[in-house]
Amino acid sequence: MSIRRLSLALLLSLPGLHAQVAKPTLHEALMAARADRAGDPGVAGAFHRLADAYGTPLYVYDQGHILGQVAALKSAFAPRFSKLRILYALKANTNPAVIGLLRSQGLGAEVVSRGEIETALRVGYAGGDIMFTSSSKGPEEIRRAIQLGSVLNVDSLDELGLVQAEARRQKKQARISFRINPGVDPHTIHQINTGIAESKFGLHLQGGIAFKAYEKALTMPEIRIEGAHCHIGSQITETDGYLLTARKMLGLVKDLKDKLGIKLGFVDLGGGLGIPYQDGQAVMSPEDLAKALEPVWKEGVAAAGYEPTLWLEPGRFFVGGSGFLVIRVNTVKETPLKTFVNVDAGFNTLMRPAMYQAYHRVRVIGKTQDPVKVDIAGDVCETGDILAEGRLLPRAQSGDLLVILDAGAYGFSMASEYNARPLPAELMVNGDAVRVIRKRGRISELFRNTTTAPATRK
Ligand SMILES: *Cc1c(COP(=O)(O)O)cnc(C)c1O
Repeated sequence: MSIRRLSLALLLSLPGLHAQVAKPTLHEALMAARADRAGDPGVAGAFHRLADAYGTPLYVYDQGHILGQVAALKSAFAPRFSKLRILYALKANTNPAVIGLLRSQGLGAEVVSRGEIETALRVGYAGGDIMFTSSSKGPEEIRRAIQLGSVLNVDSLDELGLVQAEARRQKKQARISFRINPGVDPHTIHQINTGIAESKFGLHLQGGIAFKAYEKALTMPEIRIEGAHCHIGSQITETDGYLLTARKMLGLVKDLKDKLGIKLGFVDLGGGLGIPYQDGQAVMSPEDLAKALEPVWKEGVAAAGYEPTLWLEPGRFFVGGSGFLVIRVNTVKETPLKTFVNVDAGFNTLMRPAMYQAYHRVRVIGKTQDPVKVDIAGDVCETGDILAEGRLLPRAQSGDLLVILDAGAYGFSMASEYNARPLPAELMVNGDAVRVIRKRGRISELFRNTTTAPATRK
């Protein structure tokens, strides 16, 4: 065997290098991009195949990642909490294929609007599997949720009155929980910090407001009290906020039983589990959370004298890391202060950087050399449309592909047609198989439901 043949054989026998030589599956290519090997020719080939076949900007989700996240949460919690129910918060990613995948894993549906209720039904959920949370529900939404037998997560005394009236009209009992504002700060970004006292969400524990709501509901024959709910925020990376919240919620559970004789079916501690958005970022794992929560839960349950079912309802945790946003470089511009890489996506495609100053890793496909400090600038006509700021990345040029990592949650679901740009396509990858789970929007769709006719007087 020649030296060259020998070294090739050696190369092929090393698993780490294998992907560089052989053609990786789409799943392997996505994982390689995550592991900062987007420069590998094989990996680049996979991304170019996707971009050429389906266009850019393009959302690509990895099915294996989503299933892995579900398994991780279940294996952390199921052994420690005998009464457990996990729901998926649809708003993180509302694609029916994604929701269907999570439903196939036995997860319930946590929804925030009539549209999400109908989406859940379309995917196969029964009305009774649905939990409807919103701080501002309209009459139509309340009507539909009661009709379907969903749990209405009631956010105010005012809403309780509306739910009672509608249930009476339908001659049905409405299943409810109250969303509790526990007054806990889990140390996350302000815009997604929902359980602090000044937030718009929930009935405050403070001042006995939540307790009084249960007292009121108990007098209403049209209302069936099923649980208590809270959701203290999103992208939470430490356990302490959850532990404090659990203590407070279980204190309420005890109070409700001791003083009002109410036994709750469930206590929902919300979603919010954070994911790593940066290389090397350490975040709380489901195992960390389950382990820390177990003694707090056991103690609270013992004090209350019974055990409600623990409900959890993450969104981002299941789908965030599964998503890869593939975009193309239009132009590169050097200015006296900065170098801008102008791409074919913007905050209409991925809102999080502009809205929350969120950090998403960016990889340059097929390039490893000549690092330069750049801003990745969107194609929306707004100064704030920067997808990534001050990043040291291999030099990119017109036509190159970039991939934005961890775009599976609050990515497409927040996308808009602002600047008259049609919505991107979404793909699901399973190994080397790929399915279009949402076709790319069309220019003609920009005009749907519109007319150019004037308002003429009769
Ligand atoms: C958004 C939301 C969730 C999911 O939050 P994540 O941070 O994505 O886990 C869960 N519950 C409620 C009430 C929400 O509004």
